[in-house]
Amino acid sequence: RTVNVDLGDRSYPIYIGSGLLQHIGEYFKNHGISTKSPLMIVTDDHIAPTYLSSLESTLSAAGYESVSKIVKAGEPSKSLTVFEDVMTTAIEGGLDRNSTVIALGGGVVGDLAGFVAASYMRGIKFVQVPTTILAHDSSVGGKVAVNHPLAKNMIGAFHQPELVLYDLDTLQTLPPREVSAGLAEMVKHGLIRDGDFARWCREHSSELVALDPDALGYGLERGCSIKADVVSQDERENGLRAILNLGHTIGHAIEAVAGYGEYLHGEAIAIGMAGSALLAGRLGRDSSIYDETVSMLQSLKLPVTMAAHLSTDDIIKAMMHDKKFREGHMLFIIPESIGSVSIVKDVPVQLVRETIDQLR
Ligand code: NAD
Ligand code: ZN
Repeated sequence: RTVNVDLGDRSYPIYIGSGLLQHIGEYFKNHGISTKSPLMIVTDDHIAPTYLSSLESTLSAAGYESVSKIVKAGEPSKSLTVFEDVMTTAIEGGLDRNSTVIALGGGVVGDLAGFVAASYMRGIKFVQVPTTILAHDSSVGGKVAVNHPLAKNMIGAFHQPELVLYDLDTLQTLPPREVSAGLAEMVKHGLIRDGDFARWCREHSSELVALDPDALGYGLERGCSIKADVVSQDERENGLRAILNLGHTIGHAIEAVAGYGEYLHGEAIAIGMAGSALLAGRLGRDSSIYDETVSMLQSLKLPVTMAAHLSTDDIIKAMMHDKKFREGHMLFIIPESIGSVSIVKDVPVQLVRETIDQLR
């Protein structure tokens, strides 16, 4: 399966299938990645033990010289300190203007390695090898970044990959919670643009949760295509792209108040999507949207309510830090039906407060 991400001035393919990594050399040659310049593989210490050495030897058999950098798994590696460490490896490894950075990992490695590629010698080539389901989201759109201690994703760039190689075999070792969290973003793409796909996710939820390659391949293909479609219409986030934030206003606030770690990002946005559907009901939309959204999320083993100890006041306060808040009103992505949403700019905070209460 191939999804073409077309951004007008340039485009790149996302290849999805089993066993792709064994042929990475052919993909590289077809995409003009030269064997004359060294490559750098960036990965984390959960992924490296299983997948790094075989990637290194496949590349070397195909005539590529490479250096590898293994960072600690987890969000803290998206920092300027680790960024500098990766840069050091790149310089010591002799990367030049024609070199390519390969991100072997989830969204953390993708964002970090992508930002290194965007900055090294003012920008070199970048290839994503996503190993999480969530990374289907980060592999489209070209956003790359590290965090500042005061704010997430604050230091970054737009840098599109040359290609994305999604090898389904690498997903088989994902822990179950990470699987469901990634599926939350997948069903989100259905909920915002394609009701049939959202319903397909529910009908095939047991295969998806069990990492069945056929179901996963199709789900990732649709998820990537929907995101690509939205991004290609709004590459720099001026309007339409905001719909990708369904569930994220409440979700980000829950992540912040719970302390990063209690909920995975995908889990928090699942609760946020349930919240947006509740809010839709309060704004006069059909209440069946909520019931259907919840049944989809639960079929994917995702939470739809939050822990009792999280206070509504704290969550509202966390949302106020969000730029989407203005004078008693908030901007929300509100489902109009399963498969379509609208951007509502003037949701009264009181309604949001009541909705959060109901999520407990
Ligand atoms: P992650 O990269 O931290 O991966 C989650 C966990 O799974 C980690 O512990 C990782 O080591 C482990 N893991 C990864 N692949 C594995 C595998 N195949 N087998 C076993 N374990 C594996 O997190 P994520 O959920 O992939 O991504 C989250 C990050 O993505 C966040 O930093 C977020 O900001 C970013 N993101 C970026 C974009 C974008 O547009 N750039 C979009 C969405 C999310
Ligand atoms: Zn998200």
